[in-house]
Amino acid sequence: MAKKAAKKATMKAQVFYEPLKMSLEDVPIPEIAADEVLIKVKACGICGSDIAYYFGKASLETPTGKGPLILGHEYSGEVVEVGAIAKKLFKPGDRVVLDPVQYCNACDVCFRGQTNLCENKAVLGVSTNGGFAEYSKSKYTGVHPLPDNVSYENGALTEPLACATYGLKNLAVEVGNFCVVIGPGAIGCMMIQLAKSSGAGAVVLIGGPGDDYRLEAGKKLGADLVINATEKGSPYYVADVKAQIAEMTGGKMAARVIVPTGAVPAMEMALDISGRRSTVVFFGLPGDKDVVRVPVLQSILWDKTIRFSWLAPGVWQTALGALATGLVNVAPLVSRAYPLKDLAQALGDVKDRVGKPMKPVVVP
Ligand SMILES: [Zn+2]
Ligand SMILES: [Zn+2]
Repeated sequence: MAKKAAKKATMKAQVFYEPLKMSLEDVPIPEIAADEVLIKVKACGICGSDIAYYFGKASLETPTGKGPLILGHEYSGEVVEVGAIAKKLFKPGDRVVLDPVQYCNACDVCFRGQTNLCENKAVLGVSTNGGFAEYSKSKYTGVHPLPDNVSYENGALTEPLACATYGLKNLAVEVGNFCVVIGPGAIGCMMIQLAKSSGAGAVVLIGGPGDDYRLEAGKKLGADLVINATEKGSPYYVADVKAQIAEMTGGKMAARVIVPTGAVPAMEMALDISGRRSTVVFFGLPGDKDVVRVPVLQSILWDKTIRFSWLAPGVWQTALGALATGLVNVAPLVSRAYPLKDLAQALGDVKDRVGKPMKPVVVP
């Protein structure tokens, strides 16, 4: 039985219906089950996928692929109500972050720890209501305590940091490795720091059109060299990236390359600049018809590993530890806080890169 606390019956929420159609509404505050927790949302990050849903570039994972649905899957909050089972672990007032991937914990892949692949999972903000609202509910198994020294706004970046952490786990950096990150968004800037703290010898960050401010953010967060691969007018422009990497590595090329962008040319560049016995990880999401050309013979002869990375199974504690200890500094990546009512404007600003966004958050 859910504990009944004194609370108002409705909340403000941004309800998304279909592309370009979303409205701020008064909706009932979610009722929780025994294994659920109700939280008051404190900060919810805006993800590229939220923009894709809002502008019709991707479908929701609801049965119809459409709304009504409250978007937002990167959020932190304060526990306000706890179901009977969840009481063992949580109480009102706890500061928490939510893993939006609410896996079943009882299927074959879950039993193997591959919870990112659970076919029974619900995803907050993608298949079931998420964080662009005053309140949200979660299964207690998806709730993690937020370390005391991490703010709610920084804590809202735990989900993308956890995904970045899994990407770096798959990249398997060894001490001294020459690493390249292609894609200088917020996640790329987290990956630089994770690579450095994993012992990378050097980290090069590569971006493209309009990315100079992001490259500068990456430089401040530890990139040894930043490259704009496409814009001739950029102070970071390098015409021949492959030659540049060859020069920096004495011809060995990069030992580790990770690609936190869905751009196919970036993925092909990764294969082009990686060396003998290298590992390349594809992380960013391309379009569903996109195909990457792999130079197979070269990849075999150089004994390469090409790996993919999806979501963040088993690494949330690592990501929260990286935040709490300061191994990863996300504060410079929180670019702006929007009120809940301005969500549509925020999504447009991020799409058009108004105000040089890295990772804006909505604060209900
Ligand atoms: Zn996301
Ligand atoms: Zn499962």
